[in-house]
Amino acid sequence: MHTIDQIYIDGAFVTPHGEERFDLFNPATEEVIGTVRLADQEDARRAIAAAKRAFPAFSRTTVTERIALLRRMHAAVEARGDDLFAAVLEEYGAPVNRGRWMVGHASSVFLDAIETLEHFEFERRKGSATVVMQAVGVVGLITPWNSDAGFICGKLATAIAAGCTAVIKPSEMSALQTRVVTEALHAAGAPAGVFNIVTGRGEVVGAAIVDSPDIAKISFTGSTTVGKGIVRAAADTLKRVTLELGGKSPVVILDDADFDAAVPLAVMAGFANSGQACIAGTRLLVPRARLAEFETRMVAAVNAVVSGDPSDHATEVGPMVSQKQWERVQGYIGKGIAEGARLIAGGIGRPEGYSRGWLVRPTVFSDVRNDMVIAREEIFGPVLSIIAYDDDEDAIAIANDTPYGLQAYVLSADTARARRVASRIDAGRVLINTLTHEPKAPFGGFKQSGLGREYGSFGLEAYLEPKALLGVDA
Ligand code: NAD
Repeated sequence: MHTIDQIYIDGAFVTPHGEERFDLFNPATEEVIGTVRLADQEDARRAIAAAKRAFPAFSRTTVTERIALLRRMHAAVEARGDDLFAAVLEEYGAPVNRGRWMVGHASSVFLDAIETLEHFEFERRKGSATVVMQAVGVVGLITPWNSDAGFICGKLATAIAAGCTAVIKPSEMSALQTRVVTEALHAAGAPAGVFNIVTGRGEVVGAAIVDSPDIAKISFTGSTTVGKGIVRAAADTLKRVTLELGGKSPVVILDDADFDAAVPLAVMAGFANSGQACIAGTRLLVPRARLAEFETRMVAAVNAVVSGDPSDHATEVGPMVSQKQWERVQGYIGKGIAEGARLIAGGIGRPEGYSRGWLVRPTVFSDVRNDMVIAREEIFGPVLSIIAYDDDEDAIAIANDTPYGLQAYVLSADTARARRVASRIDAGRVLINTLTHEPKAPFGGFKQSGLGREYGSFGLEAYLEPKALLGVDA
């Protein structure tokens, strides 16, 4: 049993003022594996005060000093890789390969921030003015459970690069990985107060951070519903807000696509992170003339996907993070059936051989209309919808007929044609015949998938205020 009863404020592990406890579960066994003592508003207030005290000195550090700190943070998180891996397996049920990726990502984001910082111009000449980019202030970083270590480290790395100090509010469901990451970051030796980590309830600690007049900016990753509430609450103090929210990403399979490549790519895009990914490609847009062929190939590929014990190396899809998420996903599968979509793989219940664990059968519906609930709402589980289209215009219209716009995929034998289609899709990132990630590129959503961008120089600018100086020499 894990007992987590400390939070991190002003460079030290301290006992929270809050007394509420939260149980941690292993999603593969449904057993309680630990308990967390949660922070409350008073803890948030102390953390914000510490970050505020640290800001004047930290915001005046040089780029060289901040690069040195980021390097130490990278090394410290990397050194705890095995512990972090054990945590994401135990509390999150990440399958082995995914877990290894998550761990690598949590440390590599510091290198990405260094790379950005090395090429970033903090001072630019605009006509007769000199524009300096100044750290925005104390930032509140609020993260979700679905890749928490990576989000904590990614947002913190950018904040540090900018010279901001931070109060971080991770998901209470990620307390094990948060503890490992916090210990690692503490070992990296940042000045006290530069980062503070307070695990607590969103509506308690998260809300206290969003409401505080001492917080200049919020960077939030999570659901669209909570994101909208954050924008409303942040209006009172006119905080800068960056939001990375939900998605319902289309995978546009053009009629010339090679299905030998398209089908495995669609399976990976849909089921990565056990379907608990904001960028999951969940709407498969398939040319009507090739629908039967695609369905046959997809059924074979999906029936071969192993959903099961995350510690087994063969497993590709692990459990949902919580019973609530499991029930939610089951509910959507039921809704798809009730709406008249045709189930071609998977279905309600657990994979064969399992009576425990929040496991879902990798599921595919065909004959889905884009106005069905399963095509409109983010399911956050391994459930895909095949939607037939007539021509490229129709495919583009369906791809864009969604409140979301985070990511899209276009698959075609002709890259120039795929690019023409991509140019008309309203999404922050379009992957053409690939699943790669580019940390230098901006990441974020059109429409209700978010506000602003993260990563690379676009992400760094979101932590800075431009200040124009006139009357100074170049
Ligand atoms: P969530 O919105 O429920 O919670 C996210 C975080 O916000 C948690 O730390 C939570 O405690 C906190 N929170 C909740 N209420 C709050 C409030 N009133 N004020 C301040 N903070 C509050 O999301 P989740 O269920 O943890 O994560 C899943 C969601 O995250 C999905 O919708 C997914 O699409 C989205 N997501 C988006 C991205 C992206 O980059 N676009 C990446 C991963 C996940």
